[in-house]
Amino acid sequence: MCCSEVRSGGNFTYAPAMDGVDIAAAAVNGGAWSFLIAGEERQFQGNAGYEDMVEESYSYDSTVGNHRRVAVGDLVVVRNGREALGIGYVEELEVLPDQQKLRSRCPHCGSTGFKERTTEQPRYRCSPCGNAFDRPKVETIQVTAYRAHYGGTWQPFEGCMDKAQLAELSLSKSDQQSIKAIDRARTLAAVAARGVCLPRQGQASGAARQYPLELPGGRRRMTAAVRRGQDAFRRALVRRYGLICAITGPAPAEVLEAAHLRPFAATERHRVEEGLLLRADIHRLFDGGLLAISRELVVCVAPSLLGHVSYSELEGTTLQIPVDAVVDRDVIKEHHAVTTATW
Ligand SMILES: [Zn+2]
Repeated sequence: MCCSEVRSGGNFTYAPAMDGVDIAAAAVNGGAWSFLIAGEERQFQGNAGYEDMVEESYSYDSTVGNHRRVAVGDLVVVRNGREALGIGYVEELEVLPDQQKLRSRCPHCGSTGFKERTTEQPRYRCSPCGNAFDRPKVETIQVTAYRAHYGGTWQPFEGCMDKAQLAELSLSKSDQQSIKAIDRARTLAAVAARGVCLPRQGQASGAARQYPLELPGGRRRMTAAVRRGQDAFRRALVRRYGLICAITGPAPAEVLEAAHLRPFAATERHRVEEGLLLRADIHRLFDGGLLAISRELVVCVAPSLLGHVSYSELEGTTLQIPVDAVVDRDVIKEHHAVTTATW
């Protein structure tokens, strides 16, 4: 069993099999944080943009609030300004003492809370004191730098948790913090309800783990996720259903596809009501006329597949979607009629 956490989170009602012991353990085994990825700022810091690193690790330093509290074993949700990007456990924490960092301050009041303006002159404006200026005061400070690695347990969200939904899990009201405390037990419940299956803590962190940035073949890990994420139709389905195959249940994002209940070319429209998230093999069988769904949302398997246990056991099961999910039953019925006519 992969999902060990239960309870519903937000609008999500998917409830994996209950395992009370795991929930209790997860709730006490460490802290939980959300890390803010500040896109532009981070792009200046390294050669590679943060996009290449977001699924692997997060860097921060001792000027950031809560920096001391993050520990190995903690749960982390990485967020940008719009949504939560994914989740993992801190497997290793690199600590680099005595690093030099440039910090800019307002020359009038000394605040760091000023913003660069794109059109107006002077170039910077300080909101605390209201002054505008062209050149900030730059100082060199000593910091301790940290890098939290979580790539071995990382699970992408791909659109199933937005900013507001993550904010509900937050333990602090402040929106300013880069590292924010979140409720560990409620976070685990919320992601489980979205079909996100974390490995058990410690399960995925092998000794002497390397931190590869590239997959065999030279592709960076993020590339595929970005490509999937750009598919608006799939994103809309993930947002609605979580990372859950409508026929087989939670599945890794890598094998979840957006299925059109009626051939896309026939309509050239993407209506969410005419789509379901399906595991890749299930999607292929559905498109190939070997699986159908009745109007009552019950799965029907072609007789020719019944020798395959992993598929025959799906026969007669009910679609794993929320009771209130709006699916176009007429389109489902149409597909069912056309498909089963060939059996
Ligand atoms: Zn100022």
